[in-house]
This record gives sequence, C-alpha cells and structure tokens, in this order.
Amino acid sequence: MLFVLLLAAVAPARRDARVEAISQRIQPTALQATVAKLVGFGTRHTLSDTTSETRGIGAARRWLAAQFGAAAQGTRLKPFEDRFVAQPGRRIPQPVELINVGAVLPGSDAARAKQAIVMTGHYDSMPSNVMDPQSDAPGAVDDASGTAMALELARAFAKEQPAVTVYFVAVAGEEQGLVGSTHLAQRLKQEGVEVLAMTSVDIAGNIEGQNGVIDNTRGRVYSEGTPIVENDAQRRLRDAVGGENDSASREWARYVERVGERYVENLDLLVMLRRDRLGRGSDHTSFNQQGFPAVRLSEMVEHYDREHQTPRVENGRQFGDDLAHFDAPYAAKLCRALAASVASLAFAPAPPAAVKLGGAVSPDTRLRWTLPPDPRIANVVLYRRRADSVVWQHAQLVGKVDHLVLQNVIPDDEFFAVGTVDEAGNESLPQAPSELDR
Ligand SMILES: [Zn+2]
Repeated sequence: MLFVLLLAAVAPARRDARVEAISQRIQPTALQATVAKLVGFGTRHTLSDTTSETRGIGAARRWLAAQFGAAAQGTRLKPFEDRFVAQPGRRIPQPVELINVGAVLPGSDAARAKQAIVMTGHYDSMPSNVMDPQSDAPGAVDDASGTAMALELARAFAKEQPAVTVYFVAVAGEEQGLVGSTHLAQRLKQEGVEVLAMTSVDIAGNIEGQNGVIDNTRGRVYSEGTPIVENDAQRRLRDAVGGENDSASREWARYVERVGERYVENLDLLVMLRRDRLGRGSDHTSFNQQGFPAVRLSEMVEHYDREHQTPRVENGRQFGDDLAHFDAPYAAKLCRALAASVASLAFAPAPPAAVKLGGAVSPDTRLRWTLPPDPRIANVVLYRRRADSVVWQHAQLVGKVDHLVLQNVIPDDEFFAVGTVDEAGNESLPQAPSELDR
C-alpha cells in the first residue's frame, strides 16, 4: 500500500455541474418574496388564529402547503404533511393541532431506499411573551428565513434524481419547545428512515449585529461533539481515540463548511464546536435526540432587539423581527451553500462501513474498512487533520481500496476518516473509525 501515499496529493475538490445548477437556482428575490408573505400573516404564533385567511398560523400553513404543492406539480417531488395534536406542556396550555408542511423528493437508489437527508426551517414565531398568540410577531429572520429556504430548496431540487430521499420541511412549534421537529424526528425514526444528515436553518438573514458589526460573508454551523445518544461501545471508543470532535453531526458540519465554500464565493462558514449558541437551541436537537446527525446553520451576527420581541419603539429604540432587516442576498448565499451540500451528499455513493483504526504504540497508522456494493463508487478519499485542528486539512484520493498503511504517520497525532466519491467528485460523509484494530 506504499504506492498509495506516493500518488496521493490531489484533493477531490471538484464542482459537479448538477450540484452547481441546483445551488444557482436559489435566488434572493424568491427568498425575499416568501419572507415578506410570511411576515404579512401578522403572527405565526403556535396558539394563534387558525380560521382567518389573512392572519395567524392557520393562514400561514395553508399558504405554505399550497406553495410546496405547486412546486411538486409535474415533478418527482411529493407534498409532505406531518399533522398531530400536541398535548399540554410547559408552553402548550391546551391540546393544539400542529402541522409540519413540506415536500419530499424520493431517492432513486433502491438499495438505499430508507436513507434520507432532512432540512427544516420553523414557520412559527413569537412576540415578547411566548404565550401571547395575539400580538404581532413578524418573525422575518426567526424563522421565515429558514422557512423560505425550505421552500426554495424544494423548488431547486424538484426535478432532480438524488440517490437518497430528501425532505424539505417547514416545521411548527419550535418556540413552544421544539414540538414540531420532535414529532417529525420521532416519526421518521418509527418509519425506519435512516437520517444521514439533518440541518435546521434558524435565524439566517440578518447582517447587522447588536453591537453594530456588519457581516454578510460568514455563517455559523453548530453541531454536537459528544452525541446525546451514545451506547457503551461508542462511549468507550470515544474515550479511547478522543473522538469528541468526530461525531457524525460534526462530520456533517465540516461537510457543509467544505462543500458550501466550494460552491459559493465570498462565504466563510465556521465549524462551531458546540451544539448551539449559549443556552439556546433549535430543531436539530430533536434529531440528535433520535440519534441522527444534525446541525444548525445560522447567521454570523445576531441582533437581539429583533428576536422574540413584540414590535415597538421604546425611548427611540426599535424592537421587532421586521422585514426591513432581512438581507435576501446574504440569506441566498447561506442557502446556496446548503443546497450544494445537500445535493452533493444526495448524489454521493454510500459511505465506507466498519472503519477500523490501528497502529497504536507504533510509528505507522493502519486503516481498514468495508466498501459497500455501490457501483457509483469511483474512488476513496482519506481525510486527515492534525490532532490540534478543527477541520480536515488534507483530502487525498487513495484509489478504490479497502485498507491503507500510512508509514511514518503516528496515529496519536492526527485524526482520520474515509469517504467514498463518485466520478463527479461528490463525497459521502467521511466516516471516522468506529472500532480500534489491536
Ligand atoms: Zn428560531
């Protein structure tokens, strides 16, 4: 296997024309139009009016369902609805019907029929008091921005034929305690769907921070390090190899950073080493709780006077999440990065399995894995980074092989993962070692 290292120097950082086309379909004008429409419903509070045609959560979800339905017309896309009655809880005073609405694009690879990628934005909103269904709660950035992206992604993917299924969902009840996404994640788990990667886009369209900093070139990707759901064997391996930064969620975060930046200019994505911002959460956590890899994509700088605030002016200070502070060109960049990442993963071959890492107490690193019988596997990529770094530093094509010996690479000092790649350069999620080879 020595020859492999001599050949390996080229990173598979190529652009696939199909992925590029999907990404370019995301337009600021369309995002702007959807956010404006959603703001126009006055409030989208979970407990707000459901009968009015112009105001409240009912009007908003009927409009969204109609948009997803229209996007599906004459395409491979199918409208998706997840309807249930949420029982009373901390922020739900009486039983209330919640509806997650969206679209699902079926995968074309029969051998991977149960595998899926999920993207959500939450369409509910809140004023200053989370239990107030009457006051205006425009929720332009939180989270009409992510909701608009769910709709645009569905439209952009509608005629594509990815290998695995892709869900684009506007979820309900986030502000009342991740109620809609919890139901969605549990439902997919019960249906036997294996979610390969989930992204919650939440608060992704403001470029002016509370402290006056303007930033329209960066975005944040949050992911869990130590998984919420972990069995004993996984915990022991994590302890043995120091795998706190190599959860499947973090691998997806790195993927979004790497592929997103490959396809979108003037965008710098940060792989944040925490599940979310301080003491705050979003719908990705609902998926983590079911053992699924999941991240949150969010803007770089937040303005707290515009989050969870009833619109008003106090002593000249303006509060409220209004349309005027939604920056559509910036949101489009984030959405294009996510479009490219989801597309690349959806087109990519099945990943390597049973990756074993050996070479402890030796100067050489040994890796073995199993390649699935996926005819689209053109090559294997070895990812490497020094043990003091955050993102992969090297991506080397090593040929369609199932083991490697890295001579004079001390396994204590680097992290490794392997992925599969197709002819067009689409990479599977890198697989960190799942076992020690002694
Ligand atoms: Zn939110």
